[in-house]
Amino acid sequence: MQNDQRFLELALLRETFESGITRDLSWRISQLHALETFLIERERDIAAALHHDFRKSAAETFLTETGFLRSEIRFALKHLASWMKQRRVSVPLVYQPSRASYAPEPYGVVLIIGAWNYPFNLSLAPLISAIAAGNCAVVKPSEHAPHSSALIAEGVDHYLDQSAIRVVEGGAEEAKSLLAERFGYIFYTGSPAIGREVMLAAARHLTPLTLELGGKSPCIVDESGDVRVAARRIVWAKFLNAGQTCLAPDYVLVHEHREEELLQFMQEAITDFYGDEPRLSRDYPRIVNSDHFQRLKKLFDGSSVWCGGQSDQGERYIAPTILREVSMASPLMQLEIFGPLLPVIAYSDLSEALDLIRSLDEPLVIYLFSSDRDIQQRVVRHSRSGGVCINDLFFQAALHTLPFGGLGNSGFGASHGRAGFETFSFQRSLLRRSLYPDPALRYPPYRWWKFRLLKPFVTFFQ
Ligand code: NAD
Repeated sequence: MQNDQRFLELALLRETFESGITRDLSWRISQLHALETFLIERERDIAAALHHDFRKSAAETFLTETGFLRSEIRFALKHLASWMKQRRVSVPLVYQPSRASYAPEPYGVVLIIGAWNYPFNLSLAPLISAIAAGNCAVVKPSEHAPHSSALIAEGVDHYLDQSAIRVVEGGAEEAKSLLAERFGYIFYTGSPAIGREVMLAAARHLTPLTLELGGKSPCIVDESGDVRVAARRIVWAKFLNAGQTCLAPDYVLVHEHREEELLQFMQEAITDFYGDEPRLSRDYPRIVNSDHFQRLKKLFDGSSVWCGGQSDQGERYIAPTILREVSMASPLMQLEIFGPLLPVIAYSDLSEALDLIRSLDEPLVIYLFSSDRDIQQRVVRHSRSGGVCINDLFFQAALHTLPFGGLGNSGFGASHGRAGFETFSFQRSLLRRSLYPDPALRYPPYRWWKFRLLKPFVTFFQ
């Protein structure tokens, strides 16, 4: 959408919404099928775009982008009719005869602003929920994954109803000019710093919003359990997408008795997955741009490297890197890493690990490897985060049945499955009353005897 056309295009989307077509179950289903067709027919092009943007492998693209989106569409198609249902509620005697119900309604024209690290997933998963909920939508993918952004624009234009769903490409300026407009809902994915700006912009129009932000998600490895499996799962999750994942374990807290073992197994796992020279692995992506490359280089320069640490500026390559003896005051422990660097910190007592986690902002997720039920319960009870995943990583976000979202600095609101549908809907209540009886009791003047009679009605006959 060109800048000067934007106002007109938004007016068209509003008109489409007002026409009521997007509220029909059949329209929602047809758009979800059309999006699925885009993902199937253009699977190779999508993989190529992501390879261009940061050398992501086709397998990883399927697992984390197209495959996930297709199953999210299937899940929505299966449950949509039941999610849309009107719910009847009981009406107390005093309000009879009446019928009361509520139903999810779309907000109107919604705005979705996506981040670059999973460009299709982060723009199109919210779009699936927005369509399922019966909204029109403007999608702004991130400018930092330009090939993906262009393909999202082309795909949405070609496959979806253009009078209801549009893509605006561009960066901060485009995002800001969109935010100056009034939308029914805003769904933002990105950093907490920009999240604040988005929230300020939303406040101007009193627009409700969801913020899917980042943060430092810890991974605790306690004394119990199989450390080799823990090491393999941590390495897989950390170095997927070269660590550029909001859900990636940002740092590991390991019981001091298992530290050496964990480090050895993690190093072995890196070699198993990416070979002796990860730079040559087809499965190991690059850093998205040189600003992020420089940021990451600065972040670990001078740290104690256990393994990895090699980099190549020309290719924007940073090897899977494990760091030791990182102090809490270091930027590595104060900022979200968002790259292939993994500090490992030993603790002697679980409360020490929990204190350390609580000293930082609420993370998106807390991971725990432990086969001890008491430890599992202690971690859940004595910490706060958007989610918890025990003995694995990432799968809490893959389940369409679990709400996905952050808390505090990692955001608010939820996405995926029914939670995503509810995010893009509001519950509209409806009460249908009879005109009779029409007792004088409810009307002024409220003489003492009326007031005395009214009191038990209001208080007890509910
Ligand atoms: P980014 O630079 O791609 O920015 C995100 C979006 O914000 C882009 O579309 C960008 O154009 C837009 N933007 C830039 N400036 C803006 C402004 N002033 N006003 C409005 N919009 C603006 O991505 P990023 O911010 O570098 O993303 C990385 C962060 O996102 C990390 O913190 C990561 O943890 C987080 N993240 C969170 C999730 C989640 O689901 N919770 C998913 C992915 C990434």
